[in-house]
Amino acid sequence: VSEPEQAPAPASKGPLTPADPRFAKECLDALHTLGKTLGQMNLYKVGHPAVVNALASCEVLLRDALGQVPEGLLTFSIDNDKLIANGRIIGNTGQVPNAIIAFFNRFKLNNITIKAGLEVKDLQSFCELSASRPDSEAAKDPQAYLEKAGVTHITLAETVYTKMSEEQLLAALQDKSLDETINLLVANAVPNPKQQKQVLERVRDLIKHDIEKRLDEVVRPLREERNVAANESARTQSVIENMAEGVVVVDEQGKILMMNPAAEELYGARLSQVAGQLLAEKAGEEHVVTLAAEIATPKDRPIKKEVQLTGDGETRKTIKHSSAVVQNEAGKVVGVVSTFTDVAKQKELQKMEREFVAHVTHELRAPLSSIKAALDILNEEFFGKLADDGQRMLKAARVNSDRLENLINGILDFSKIESGQMTVHPLPVDPERMGSEALESMKPWATRKSINFVLESQAGLPMVLADSVRSVQILINLISNAIKFTPSGGKITIGVKLSPKEKAVEFSVKDTGPGIPPEEHKRIFEKFVQIAAGQMHVGGTGLGLAIAKALVHMQGGKMWLESAVGSGSTFFFTVPIYETAQIDRSAAKPPPPPERPWWKTLLGLD
Ligand code: ADP
Repeated sequence: VSEPEQAPAPASKGPLTPADPRFAKECLDALHTLGKTLGQMNLYKVGHPAVVNALASCEVLLRDALGQVPEGLLTFSIDNDKLIANGRIIGNTGQVPNAIIAFFNRFKLNNITIKAGLEVKDLQSFCELSASRPDSEAAKDPQAYLEKAGVTHITLAETVYTKMSEEQLLAALQDKSLDETINLLVANAVPNPKQQKQVLERVRDLIKHDIEKRLDEVVRPLREERNVAANESARTQSVIENMAEGVVVVDEQGKILMMNPAAEELYGARLSQVAGQLLAEKAGEEHVVTLAAEIATPKDRPIKKEVQLTGDGETRKTIKHSSAVVQNEAGKVVGVVSTFTDVAKQKELQKMEREFVAHVTHELRAPLSSIKAALDILNEEFFGKLADDGQRMLKAARVNSDRLENLINGILDFSKIESGQMTVHPLPVDPERMGSEALESMKPWATRKSINFVLESQAGLPMVLADSVRSVQILINLISNAIKFTPSGGKITIGVKLSPKEKAVEFSVKDTGPGIPPEEHKRIFEKFVQIAAGQMHVGGTGLGLAIAKALVHMQGGKMWLESAVGSGSTFFFTVPIYETAQIDRSAAKPPPPPERPWWKTLLGLD
């Protein structure tokens, strides 16, 4: 066994900086000696004179280097194959014994820091650590091992402690986040990893505390303001909510923004259901809405005084003053909504009224039938025996009883439609047959008025799905209107043709009467509407077209008219073509009634 090599003599003294090549040499020499000693630890014990000697000369070299660097701190690290001391490359790994590199690798070290005041015993402990067995306590936590051994001048660090020059530091700090900057500064200032951790924690605490304090200073007045606003709004809210009077607030367009519980009660709807909807539109038949036409207050002219009213005359009369004040966003009163105090009672009354009319008309039918039967017998058996006057009176009685019968039938049909009790029973029928049936039954009257009365039916028409009794009734109604309004010598044409686009057959009744002005075309289908047609008074109830249109709709068709004053009128309606699948479906299951009965829409009953 050979004696360990004698360490080389320390380099000549003099001012030394890391930039000086002598600094690198001294460091390299020290590492070389230390490395050699580490490598020999399997041959010698720590206390062996050879080891003691080698470590002593290592200590001399290191002390010398430490004495020359600022703050007496020397940090060694390895970057790839470069050996670095205090951030400067002093050589490469090939220049020192492998035991040094192995030490770094074994303990996964980033750096080893040596402080001024280093003693030989520190280096001895370092050597013992290096010689420790892989399963020993020392191997698990090398730094703790050194501390336990009282080594204060050597620290092993897994975090990078980088002593940088000012320029290096400034360059490294560029584009770094706050956290990265703090880490870098602390890493640069505090070599001991444990202390680094403590310093970092303290700095972070301070920053957090400071930010919280400043934030609180900025936010406090805002928070107070918010509380004041919230309190005020809560107070206003509770005043409005507890008002006995209803309050509805609308925006500039009359759309509902809010309503208090009293208004909800009057309105019969929750705010959530009606918010954003037009106040006037949402009011049902049990409401009267009075709204100023202009709710924004113009500066340059006086406000228009007109108000908008909904609800029919009956409603307006009956209403008791349960009203809600309507305000706009700015709190200005712009109208009033009034409601029946007892909507249910009102509805009940309306129902009773309808039932009464239906009942009375029905009851009128029986005595009328016997009057008619008696008149028929009179006519057949005694007409010839009567004097002229008597004959005229009998005729008049018969005509008037016919009219009365029509009237009663009309009212009865109409009240059935209004109460939703009218039903149709569509079956496959031949459309031409319905046309000629209507023609035949009206022919005598047309002939009596010398009217040219024809049926123009397209050949090869498909079957339609219709209630034939009701469809003939519709045709007869249109034809009787046409006869009433067509002067003697005029012409009435019943048309039946295919309308492939509609998948329907189109019926039409065309006359050469006075015609109907376009502005009346829509209104004419409303109940009880009769218009002054060419100054002619022809009797009737104004129910015929309303009933006809309702029946057409119930069969799945459409009804409309084309007419102009002076050029006659043509009334059209369609009946759907029969398709095999259709009848099964419609017979099996009638369509569910829509929320708002269709006849209400149709008859303009809002
Ligand atoms: P009415 O029982 O009065 O005939 P309708 O509903 O059948 O009721 O008709 C309403 C009104 O439409 C009639 O009063 C009449 O003014 C007008 N009208 C209907 N058919 C014709 C027509 N063919 N020519 C001109 N006016 C018509």
